[in-house]
Amino acid sequence: MSARKILLAYDGVKVAEVEETPVAEIGAVLERAQAAARMMGNLTRDERAQILFAGSRGLLANQEDFARTIALESGKPLREARTEVERAAGTLWASGEEAHRLAGEEIPLDAAPNGKGRLGYTMRQPVGVVAAITPFNFPLNLSMHKVGPAIAAGNAVVHKPASATPLSALKAAALLNDCGLPKDALQVVVGPGGELGRALVEAPAARLVSFTGSAAVGRQLAGLAGLKKVTLELGNNSAVVVLEDADLAMAAEACAAGAYVNSGQTCISVQRVLVASAVLPEFLERFTERARALRLGHPLEPETEISSLIEETEAQRVQGWIGEAVRQGARLVSGGGRSRATLQPTVLEGVRSESAVWRDEVFGPVACVNGFASLDQAIAMVNDSRYGLQAGVFTNRLDAALRCLREIEAGSVLINDSSNYRVDLMPYGGRKESGLGKEGPRYAVAEMSETKMISLRV
Ligand code: NAP
Repeated sequence: MSARKILLAYDGVKVAEVEETPVAEIGAVLERAQAAARMMGNLTRDERAQILFAGSRGLLANQEDFARTIALESGKPLREARTEVERAAGTLWASGEEAHRLAGEEIPLDAAPNGKGRLGYTMRQPVGVVAAITPFNFPLNLSMHKVGPAIAAGNAVVHKPASATPLSALKAAALLNDCGLPKDALQVVVGPGGELGRALVEAPAARLVSFTGSAAVGRQLAGLAGLKKVTLELGNNSAVVVLEDADLAMAAEACAAGAYVNSGQTCISVQRVLVASAVLPEFLERFTERARALRLGHPLEPETEISSLIEETEAQRVQGWIGEAVRQGARLVSGGGRSRATLQPTVLEGVRSESAVWRDEVFGPVACVNGFASLDQAIAMVNDSRYGLQAGVFTNRLDAALRCLREIEAGSVLINDSSNYRVDLMPYGGRKESGLGKEGPRYAVAEMSETKMISLRV
């Protein structure tokens, strides 16, 4: 076994060391998971729900400990990490409620000429073993978005968290095991995605692959998974439209919060802000004022609002993209500076559509603010993307709101909220290269269970 050092990117300090799982052990891990899946399938809905409710209470009872773990492994400011723990507790609770609700339905077989004398029903059964692969940016809540629904549906889970941030997942698994999960029903494996993650996805014993991460890796996994069920929660270059009639103070505040929270390392981070040309100067002034007011610092300092990205090389990449956009004609309104892995909140104006900061997913604290002349143009600009996860629109015009709700190609369209608004129980998942399938406990439980048709001839 080899040990992996977990470092805080903010200052390079070592936070912990964890044992990596050798790839050669994946077969044994999955065999144990298959045995556990049989035990999980025998638990009642209420037994599964009570484990999840106890896990939810446990997260809240240990909120500070979990929040410090998240902050130290990911560089996320402690104040946001506390919120992540509350959200993760809510995700487990909602998953427990879904365990109670999981049900099939009566199928009216005798509505067909050859259905006479039969009773038809569907029942919902677990898929068996779920392979869950998660990214670094919400190391606890995104893990619970897979683990909670998988348990609710009666599955065993093998979870591979991001190599940079395995600590929250390991801690949460220990907690859930103490809440009465059958032995080996939740196993966490640590190691490089390219080897360990790939081995999990290819193994026949893993019946469903639930992946959250980048589109590049998602595409590879879809190819490897063959005939398995796959859900893919991928990236975005989220757009927000601000119309001329919008409440500009509200829009600027929500967009700035949505662009810079977690240093922009959110899959629905506000990246492209499209503002009606008539109100662009006023919006830009308000937005930039908020960006400049954000306090940078160590993630454990209580006042810190912006801390480091996950790695210094990521901060260098994002800074490179900002430089490219400026060379291609954008104006640097604010920010752009970097200290090690921490990047200042950055505002760009007049960004060319071929610049990477506009076209690709930045995953850093950068917002591009561009003007538009008409609603037609704004909708076309939003849809001119290979992604389609969430989009926000600020307007009080019912006609404009309805057009945006109908015509924007995204998994969610949010009126008078930024693209970064999410409630954990909503159906969440993208179109185009943003992914396949939905998360959110109710929807993930549906993905993680099978419908079996039953016909009783009596
Ligand atoms: P990533 O590089 O794609 O990694 C995600 C996970 O996949 C990690 O556990 C990684 O392991 C593993 N992995 C990497 N290569 C693999 C392979 N060939 N086979 C199997 N597993 C592999 O993503 P990230 O940088 O951690 O996270 C950022 C991305 O996640 C962004 O694109 C963001 O938009 C997306 N995201 C989407 C959502 C959503 O719900 N739609 C939510 C959050 C984040 P290692 O860490 O060992 O490489």
